[in-house]
Amino acid sequence: MTRKPDQVDFHCHLDLYPDLATAIAICESSRTATLAVTTTPKAFRRNIQLARSSEFVRVALGLHPHLAEDRQGELLLFEALLPETRYVGEIGLDAGPRYYRSMPTQEMVFRKILSMCATSGGKILSVHSVRTAGRVLDHIDECLPRDRGKVVLHWFSGSAAEASRAVQAGCYFSVNQAMLEKPRGREIVAQLPLDRILTETDGPFVDIDGGPVTPGGVLPTIKSLAALSELATADMANQLIRNWIKLVS
Ligand code: MN
Repeated sequence: MTRKPDQVDFHCHLDLYPDLATAIAICESSRTATLAVTTTPKAFRRNIQLARSSEFVRVALGLHPHLAEDRQGELLLFEALLPETRYVGEIGLDAGPRYYRSMPTQEMVFRKILSMCATSGGKILSVHSVRTAGRVLDHIDECLPRDRGKVVLHWFSGSAAEASRAVQAGCYFSVNQAMLEKPRGREIVAQLPLDRILTETDGPFVDIDGGPVTPGGVLPTIKSLAALSELATADMANQLIRNWIKLVS
């Protein structure tokens, strides 16, 4: 990336918007350093192709925990594609009511991906941890040595104790507006070190004003984070960009 971005959207499903090229163009024109996460290895190529000339969009290779059971057969493709990107996501675990039954497969897939990342080194991972923060951190401890990759916990919803454990483990946190609308989410975010926070939209899965959030639509989140830390919005915006630079450099 040659120019400094104006803002950061570190977890957005650009390919789940009606038109991927338009979603990429929105991130370019708003100068948003965007992590385009994907949910299956098969979706990766199209993202890479369309984002090839983009200055601000980076594509992550993913295998979403909701799809682990159906798509575990794509782990070989995952391994083959991994050298093509420095970014991995969306990966992780989900023990919500619809998915806890597939937990053994989810854990197998997650551990294999962590081990592949440990072998290659230098990857940055966007990780889902619904009702599994402790388990996710256990697997990371066991499979990804700290000097072999960096972890960003996306939409973290664990306990305060789990959050401090993640901070100790060196994790970053990408925070979206839906998190900050709940008192519990605000409490957790308020406890995080300012230099470990990034913004994300998790578009199109987060609604703002009755419709899906726009890619790069992080301004309300920057404002909420600024209010939470009693900082000026511009100062918070700069802090978030510094955090992103530190993470990716
Ligand atoms: Mn997501």
